[in-house]
Amino acid sequence: KSAAFSDKIKTSRLMHEEASEVIPGGVTANIKYFAPHPIVMEEGHGSKLYDVDGNEYIDYLMCYGALMTGHGHPEVFSAVTEQMYSKGTTIFGTPHKLEVDLAKKLVSLYPGIDQVRYCNSGMEATLLAVRLASAYTGKKKLAKFEGHYHGGYDQVLLSVNPEESKAGSSSSPTPVPESSGMSDYHTEHTIMLPFNDIESCEKILRTHADDISALIMEPVQGGFIPAEKEFITKLRALTHELGILLIFDEVKTGFRLALGGAQEMYGILPDLTTLGKVLGGGFPVGALGGRRDIMELCSPAASKDILTAGDDNQNKREAFFHSGTYNGHPTTLAAGLATIHLLEKHHNLDKTFQKTEYLKKELEKMYYSAGIPMTAMGEGTIFNIVVTDKPIKNLRQMNQSNTELRKAIDYELLDLGIYSKPLNRYSVSTAHDEKDLDKTLQAHYDALQRVTN
Ligand code: PMP
Repeated sequence: KSAAFSDKIKTSRLMHEEASEVIPGGVTANIKYFAPHPIVMEEGHGSKLYDVDGNEYIDYLMCYGALMTGHGHPEVFSAVTEQMYSKGTTIFGTPHKLEVDLAKKLVSLYPGIDQVRYCNSGMEATLLAVRLASAYTGKKKLAKFEGHYHGGYDQVLLSVNPEESKAGSSSSPTPVPESSGMSDYHTEHTIMLPFNDIESCEKILRTHADDISALIMEPVQGGFIPAEKEFITKLRALTHELGILLIFDEVKTGFRLALGGAQEMYGILPDLTTLGKVLGGGFPVGALGGRRDIMELCSPAASKDILTAGDDNQNKREAFFHSGTYNGHPTTLAAGLATIHLLEKHHNLDKTFQKTEYLKKELEKMYYSAGIPMTAMGEGTIFNIVVTDKPIKNLRQMNQSNTELRKAIDYELLDLGIYSKPLNRYSVSTAHDEKDLDKTLQAHYDALQRVTN
C-alpha cells in the first residue's frame, strides 16, 4: 500500500493500537484482521461504508454477504423500530407471531424445508443440523468436504484451508484441525471428501456408509465454486441410497443465488438446510429447516411421547435438545421478513443478478485486456476474482491461483475507495447502483495500471 494511503487511514491505525490493548489482535473475529491493520468503520449507508478518517468506500464485503439490501435500508429499519416501539419490548422469551410468519415464508421458498427452528448464528444452525442427523440416523460420523466452512466449532472446523502437506492426497483427503486446542474425537469421527470428484466420493462414502449420519456441504463452495450439476445430482442419489442425510449449508447461498437458495437453483432436495446471514436482515441469526419427519424430533411433545411410549426399550429414544434464550428474536425476524419482502418486490433480486453479471463480464474483459488471466467466478449475487487461466473446481485448485497479484490489486482498490477485505469474495446488494458499478470498474482499471506498471 502506498504511503499516501497509510496517511489516509491513520486514525484506523491509532484505534487499532488502542483496541489491541483490550481486545486480542484488536479484532473480535479473526477474519476481521488484515495486515498491517484493519480499517475501522464508522458509518454505513446503502452501498457505502465510511471509515473513522472520513474515507468513503463502495462496500462489497456487505458483512460477508449478510447485507442483501445494503446498509440501513429504510424499510428494514422501520420494520425493526415498529417491532420494538409499537410492541413495547425487544424480546418476549415466548412464542410470537413473527416466528410463524417467517417459518411459513421459508417453507414456501425452500423446497427442502417443511419445518423450521431458529437460532442465532449460522454456526449454531449447522451444529443443530449435525446433531439432529445423528439423532435421526443413530450414526456417529460426519462427512464433509475439504475447503467447506460451516462454523468455528470442533466438529466442522476441519480442513477448511489446510496445509496441503498435512491434508493427504487430493482424491482421499484427511481431516486437519484448523485451530489449536481442538478435540481429537472429531478428527477421528470425520470423513473428509474431495469436492467435485464423484468417483472418489462414492468410494469413500460406500466404505463408511454404516457410520456416516450426514454429509454436510456448501452447494457452492465459498459462494463461488459451484458443485457441478452432475456431481451434486449423483451425490444426492448416492446419499439417499446409503441412508446418509444430505445437509445443504445455505448460510452463504440462501437468498443470494435464488430466493430459495442453491436448492432452487440446482433443483435438488436436501434433507436438511441451514440458513443465516441474509435471513437476519443485518441482525444475528441462524435457522435449520428440513424434512418434517426429521425436524419433528426437535419437538418436546414428540420426544416426551417417545420417552413414555411403553416398556419396550427398543422403542425408546432419548429426547432431542435444542434451546436458546434469543432464538426467534422478534427484532431479527422483523428485519429478516422485511428483507425477503424487499427482494421479492419489483424483481429486486433479479435486478441484482443482472448487475452482478454485468460487473463480472466487464471485469473479465478488462483483466484480459491488461494481460491478466482472470475469471470472475460465482453464482447469483456472489463472485470472486480468481487470477488464473485454469479451471477451478475445488480448494486445491483455488490455492494454485495467483493470490499475490490478487492481494496487490485489493490493497490498491482500498486506496481507490473499493472495500472488500483482501482476497475476500464480492457480495453485491440491491443498494449497488449503476454509478457504483461504473466507479468500481474505473477503480479496477486504475488498480491494474498501478500493479502492472
Ligand atoms: N456456514 C457457512 C456456509 C458460512 O458461510 C458461515 C459464515 N461465513 C457459517 C456457516 C457460520 O455462520 P456464522 O458466522 O453466522 O456463525
